[in-house]
Amino acid sequence: METENQFTLSNYQSGLEYAKQQDALDELSSYRNQFHIPKDKYGNELIYLCGNSLGLQPKTTKAYINQELEDWANLGVEGHTDAKNPWLPYHEFLAESTAKLVGAKPIEVVTMNSLTANLHFMMASFYKPTKSRYKIVIESDAFPSDKYAVESQLRHHGYDDKEGLILWTPRKGEELLRYEDLETILEQQGEQIALVMIGGVNYYTGQFFDFKRITKLGHKHGCMVGFDCAHGAGNVDLDLHNSGADFAVWCTYKYLNSGPGSLSGCFVHERHAYDKTLNRFTGWWSHNKETRFNMRHEFDVLPGAEGWQLSNPPILSMAAIKASLDMFNKVGIKKLNKKSKKLTGYFEFLLKQLGEDTIKIITPENPDERGCQLSIQVLNADKSLHNKLTEAGVISDWREPDVIRCAPVPLYNSFEDVYQMVEKMKKILN
Ligand SMILES: *Cc1c(COP(=O)(O)O)cnc(C)c1O
Repeated sequence: METENQFTLSNYQSGLEYAKQQDALDELSSYRNQFHIPKDKYGNELIYLCGNSLGLQPKTTKAYINQELEDWANLGVEGHTDAKNPWLPYHEFLAESTAKLVGAKPIEVVTMNSLTANLHFMMASFYKPTKSRYKIVIESDAFPSDKYAVESQLRHHGYDDKEGLILWTPRKGEELLRYEDLETILEQQGEQIALVMIGGVNYYTGQFFDFKRITKLGHKHGCMVGFDCAHGAGNVDLDLHNSGADFAVWCTYKYLNSGPGSLSGCFVHERHAYDKTLNRFTGWWSHNKETRFNMRHEFDVLPGAEGWQLSNPPILSMAAIKASLDMFNKVGIKKLNKKSKKLTGYFEFLLKQLGEDTIKIITPENPDERGCQLSIQVLNADKSLHNKLTEAGVISDWREPDVIRCAPVPLYNSFEDVYQMVEKMKKILN
């Protein structure tokens, strides 16, 4: 893999002409026009490299939402059954394209709630601590919300959140996590570990983990295994079903472009689909659709991921997700991935030309171990570098103490975006 990457890197060329040429050759280049690209106060398009934080708005989103607003205006409550896209089964319209996107079966996925909420709902079912087996493993640089969530689960069950939480930590002087170290953790404490919960693509370093390997390892030691795919869904080729993971969650407002605070996706492996004995928090939307409105029936849980829903969902947000998924479905994650590897490789090539003594990329070099995000450490940099980049029209993301995260998103970022970003960085550093 290392050699393949080197080969690719040596294939790139510097200069604006090359960037323009690659855009002209790019079969996905027309998708950029299907997005609203934010502009500066003079009306110039910004270089938006922040799709890992909030994806841009597809131009079709408004029409999808308007459809629901109109149906609501014209039909009122009848819209549940008579809207063009009836609201009662609306989440079902998302199942197939979601499943395709994350490599799952339709019965394994559902769109509901928000991300951290889903993480808790999944843990209500898949974190089942006992007196001797109660610990949770998480990566040391996990997204804060995930860390807070697992800590609070430990406390909720009466365990000490320091003693019960095991951090998978990079070695001294390193940024990336090594599988050998996770293996050691499981060999030494496996019998005490109830759950392995990892950010599938680490939000900070961009490291994309081998789900299958981690799942196999966890299961071998009798642990449940779950992934937070907030930085994976719509970014990398997830193969959730085959990974064997027990559950996964993700948000749809990052790479899935469904708008700020939009709903979350959730995966529950098929092996749990018909298990009615699993403990869970329920509501009327997890109840059998046939008898849901009789209101007096004893609870009868739906099979599959749908059986974890609680409430009737916000249709306006679901409409924005549908707009985005319809686009993803048309492009296909394979094609996106191909462009993503090329575009991110190009970004890496240009950054390396700035001098490896000034710039360090902490994201894995192997294209199969990352998505489109590169996390860049600049020698002696502080937040002022990020501010200058922003002033120069580059929207990126700063993480203390010294990392700039940039994500050239294959759906709407161009080779020229990447070229211009590095040119601006060069100017600022000089
Ligand atoms: C973005 C992100 C979140 C945010 O959680 P919300 O519940 O959507 O606010 C949580 N975890 C990870 C790993 C994230 O990347």
